[in-house]
Amino acid sequence: PQKTGKSETEMARELGLQRIIRMASNENAWGPSPLAVKAIQNAAAETHLYPAGNGAKLRKSLATRFNVSPDEIILGNGSTELIDLIARTYLSPEQNAITADQTFPLYWLAVTSVNANCIQVPTRNHAFDLPRMRDSIDSNTRLLYIANPNNPTGSMVSRPDLEAFLTNVPGNVVVVLDEAYMDFADPNEFPNGLNYLKRYPNIIVLRTFSKVYGLAGMRLGYAIACPEIITNLNRVRMPYNTSLMAEAGALAALEDQAHVQKCIEFNRQEREFLTRELESRGIRVLPSAGNFLLMLLSNVDELHKRILTTGVFLRPTAWFGVPNGLRITVGKHDENMAFLDAVDRP
Ligand SMILES: *Cc1c(COP(=O)(O)O)cnc(C)c1O
Repeated sequence: PQKTGKSETEMARELGLQRIIRMASNENAWGPSPLAVKAIQNAAAETHLYPAGNGAKLRKSLATRFNVSPDEIILGNGSTELIDLIARTYLSPEQNAITADQTFPLYWLAVTSVNANCIQVPTRNHAFDLPRMRDSIDSNTRLLYIANPNNPTGSMVSRPDLEAFLTNVPGNVVVVLDEAYMDFADPNEFPNGLNYLKRYPNIIVLRTFSKVYGLAGMRLGYAIACPEIITNLNRVRMPYNTSLMAEAGALAALEDQAHVQKCIEFNRQEREFLTRELESRGIRVLPSAGNFLLMLLSNVDELHKRILTTGVFLRPTAWFGVPNGLRITVGKHDENMAFLDAVDRP
């Protein structure tokens, strides 16, 4: 089980903290769109009803936005449900899936929970090593999981690297491109997985409302893939896996692109600010295309504990395959200042 330890509220009570600052889970520091909150409140009055039609309204809105058909979309209770659903749909014992050693642990968890093998290919400079992942494919490989941008390292697979990789992956291996953080990457550089779906029908693109849309507590993610893959996933999915309120919130959040753009811009500014400030203190930070930064330290435990006592919650990344890493979610300016103050305290 994921060792989350004591809850943040419990810790705060124990330490007698007045204020806690959550920088541990890559939530959106600027919160959800007020329009989404309103829509969720309105939907609450209808919660005696099951959510009808497999999220048809939201799938239709997403389909229009991304210029695909609604049958190319499946909704999940967060995109993490879909990570699991994909493993349950495509893997049997003895088969394998490939991912990296320094990445989101839920790929590994989903794969091993169906008694399949998870091949964790070492990262190269803390980034997915696609040529080596390609070379690890064998006759039992069914799935590949790639987080782009990657959590916790913040690295991004470049467009030429992704394109070279996709042409070399056999068509019977399903490539999952988890793009939870894509909105925070530079759009001129980022290789948007949706652009490759027509050419490579073995791709599944995962997206979520938990990050830039600020709806992590609502639990809503989705996958976009060819209709055949979506049909396969729907055979294994339980009915009513997403909630009426989550769908209403997501639908409204999609309409508020001004809020999204504002969050992207604030994140970019604060990510740069934090990077500069940490580097000026001699702390090594990896370049990040996400809403978080990974610090590489020789004293993770010491720094983590010291910062925790000031009420700032960070994520040590041993569970993500980076034992010397401490991940910080980009916060609002005053939160980042409070974190830096904690770093500076003796
Ligand atoms: C946060 C995150 C997600 C999103 O998970 P949800 O279940 O949609 O909240 C997916 N993939 C990665 C790599 C993440 O870090």
